[in-house]
Amino acid sequence: MSLATPLPRSGDAAAPAHASVGALLAERGHEASDLYAQVVNPQFVRLLRTIGFDRQWARAEGSHLFDAEGRRYLDMLGGFGMFNVGRNNPRIRAALIEALELDTAGSVQLGVSPLAAFLAEGLLARAPRTLGRVLFTSSGTEAVEAALKLGRAATGRSRVLFLDHGFHGLTLGSLSVNGNADFTDRFGPLLPGFSRVHVNDLDGLEAELRREDVALFIVEPIMGKGVVIPQDGYLEGAQALCRKYGTLFVVDEVQTGLGRTGRFFALEHWGLQPDIVTVAKSLSGGYVPTSACLMSAAVYDRVFDSLENALSHGSTFAPNDLAMAAGIATLREIDEQGLVERSARLGERLLELTQPLADRFEVVDGVWGKGLMWAMGFSEPDRRKLSWRVLERVHAGLFAQLVVVPLFTDHQVLIQVAGHAQNVIKGLPPLTIEEADLEHFAASLDAVLGKAERLPKAMMSFALNAARASRRSATTA
Ligand code: PLP
Repeated sequence: MSLATPLPRSGDAAAPAHASVGALLAERGHEASDLYAQVVNPQFVRLLRTIGFDRQWARAEGSHLFDAEGRRYLDMLGGFGMFNVGRNNPRIRAALIEALELDTAGSVQLGVSPLAAFLAEGLLARAPRTLGRVLFTSSGTEAVEAALKLGRAATGRSRVLFLDHGFHGLTLGSLSVNGNADFTDRFGPLLPGFSRVHVNDLDGLEAELRREDVALFIVEPIMGKGVVIPQDGYLEGAQALCRKYGTLFVVDEVQTGLGRTGRFFALEHWGLQPDIVTVAKSLSGGYVPTSACLMSAAVYDRVFDSLENALSHGSTFAPNDLAMAAGIATLREIDEQGLVERSARLGERLLELTQPLADRFEVVDGVWGKGLMWAMGFSEPDRRKLSWRVLERVHAGLFAQLVVVPLFTDHQVLIQVAGHAQNVIKGLPPLTIEEADLEHFAASLDAVLGKAERLPKAMMSFALNAARASRRSATTA
């Protein structure tokens, strides 16, 4: 089907029904990209085609994706960090099938789901002792929305503080604590009384908190955009200041939780004891949308404080039994496969393999990470200064794209740039990844950097064309 093919409408002959998803994919899978461009997101498909990322994806397993031609790709992106237990994990799938076959009485709405109680118990058993209740939601941003809304009611205050370059999701409340203009421009006005502070600046934070009108301060323990690890003492100091001025300390573990950084929660690296913690992404093994807001009993009980207020917050699908069954199986899988320790060990190995590249290539100015949250940063080389500056003038952070694109097209490694206009690439692979895969990744990176650092003419013109196309799609979307 081409982009111009008219869609069947009511009254036209209906598209033939397919007996199964498998039959539909077998027969029409090859049309999907054009159809997606027509009925879902034309600019996204255009962008994928411009950078050479358009593939007909056939299946996925563990840390690998396979296209319709049977080519295997190493998934260092991990669905933005939602596949900690590996893609299509057979034990999570078995738990889902079992829950379906049990015909559980989920979502009674005026009744409780036993599975929700068991998953909440499992999460709290792994969380700091300050946390005593769990509110289930269905996505990371919804967990953040719940934290913002309930935090206001619990404190009787309305202001919220967040970090410059922080990211907590894209609905309006979460966008109001988003410290990246690329996400917020065009969507204002955002919630009033929300102020940005700078990471590692405790004085700036205290100046805001001292007014004693701040309901909560929300942080990612390691910031996803740029993979910024705060200086030692910052998060502990921020928590102490929040306590001093009656502000709730909220740690967003949507990306960093469930073993990602070599601890079950990243907050354990600093011994934090927050009032609220949000989790999502890998919580259901990547199968079913789900998320949770873990709260201190004091915060929860100040909001849900009477029979009339027993249902002060919630949504129709949260908690639903498939998500809960997958969540319970995911916690078990993390324990049984030792994924937290594996993440810590393989994270060290990944640093060992990739840190030498910072000495070999002038353009690499750092390699860092915790567990399997990994990053490499680039900066202007002495040689090729001019070409670098041309690139950066057209589109800040374009060099990182010059690494990501050939990693995919020439080495079949999928990875991302860690935020708009940032010369940082970020890896969030499944925690089940094998050491051999990390070696393949490091060798591919070595080969790509060797070419990219020279900024050859062909690469420059590809980058400039891609940047122009993506800018056009951004302005016309
Ligand atoms: N919080 C953090 C730290 C995130 O990284 C993300 C998503 O990347 C979110 C919240 C939003 O999660 P979701 O995309 O499930 O809404």
